[in-house]
Amino acid sequence: MDCIFCKIAQKQIKGNIAFENDRVIAFHDLFPQAPTHILIIPKQHYTTLNDVPVEQGAILGELMTTAAQLAKELDVAESGYRVVMNCNADGGQSVYHIHLHLLAGRRLNWPPG
Ligand code: 5GP
Ligand code: ZN
Repeated sequence: MDCIFCKIAQKQIKGNIAFENDRVIAFHDLFPQAPTHILIIPKQHYTTLNDVPVEQGAILGELMTTAAQLAKELDVAESGYRVVMNCNADGGQSVYHIHLHLLAGRRLNWPPG
């Protein structure tokens, strides 16, 4: 499968890795939208959020807890941050391997564009 994030997870392409364990890997976004912009992904390929079976939903919780842990390590937990997962065209998804964005380091607007 020709998936850029699978290639980063499998180290076929170099990523600027912030965290890794057996199930998830986190790396810095190539085109950061905030001073801190990290993508947290499952190593297993899921195309969109719609494709995660309910019985495998624990991985989604691990993406979230990884984001919170990284926020603490990067000292933005108290100032604040945003986690976002875009789904399909109207959600603004452009890479079709699910990823949680961790954005921090500036005041983020609401509602998002
Ligand atoms: P989406 O628009 O699908 O929610 O987010 C995809 C994100 O992946 C974007 O923020 C984009 O900048 C980032 N991105 C796209 N290609 C690469 C890449 O090859 N490496 C890294 N590190 N980030 C990428
Ligand atoms: Zn993939």
